[in-house]
Amino acid sequence: MSKIIAITNQKGGVGKTTTSVNLGASLASLGKRVLLVDIDPQGNTTSGIGINKADVNYCIYDIIINDVHPKDAICDTNIENLKVIPATIQLAGAEIELVPTISREVRLKKSLSLVKHMFDYILIDCPPSLGILTVNSLTAADSVIIPIQCEYYALEGLSQLLNTVRLVQKHLNTTLQIEGVLLTMLDARTNLGIQVIEEVKKYFQQKVYQTIIPRNVRLSEAPSHGQSIITYDSRSKGAEVYMELAKEVISYE
Ligand code: ADP
Ligand code: MG
Repeated sequence: MSKIIAITNQKGGVGKTTTSVNLGASLASLGKRVLLVDIDPQGNTTSGIGINKADVNYCIYDIIINDVHPKDAICDTNIENLKVIPATIQLAGAEIELVPTISREVRLKKSLSLVKHMFDYILIDCPPSLGILTVNSLTAADSVIIPIQCEYYALEGLSQLLNTVRLVQKHLNTTLQIEGVLLTMLDARTNLGIQVIEEVKKYFQQKVYQTIIPRNVRLSEAPSHGQSIITYDSRSKGAEVYMELAKEVISYE
């Protein structure tokens, strides 16, 4: 069985890309066939997994806008079982170019359905907005993972996100589910983090992953080396927790 998971939160800097890359790498190192789909024009997943954007032939833009077959855009990474469909800055124009297009919300879904059978997990790294690219991702997905940073304003904006999820469920993808809520960047030295955890658990209850991602400097260094934490420093705390998360995700298969 294969599952498409959108990693989404319209806030920037909450750990979407870090989670896409490192959960993807962890699932792959546990033997799962994983495709990362970068649908953020910033392309941080693309560069973070070691793809040189200048070498990219086809990116997600060509798939959504120009009907290029997704197979032609899939790139290898330095981890067996882990592939990526890259994003380049070209994608920045897609929000506007999609506006007058027929069936604009289902373009990604249609494309990914052509390669879904090749993978156990397809993880979509969403942009920090609730625009048409995120709606495409939610329409294509079986479920969503919502990363929440353990910060004071953690819950701010979440009702907008959940409202978008409900709208997509109503009009475009009736079977879309919440896969899980992931607490990220916990600073264990502060009480604030603990308060946020309690608040998020009150709100989302059993949807919150038991694995909580702490702040870990190795996690923030790895992308500048074009590597996931699994190859950059497999003995770090960051690698340990993302492997734990991967096992938790697999346990809900
Ligand atoms: P988003 O994709 O939601 O914008 P990122 O995953 O890019 O968020 O994370 C924002 C910044 O925080 C990045 O510089 C990233 O390296 C850093 N970061 C993310 N998670 C952690 C963590 N657990 N510990 C330390 N730094 C982190
Ligand atoms: Mg990102």
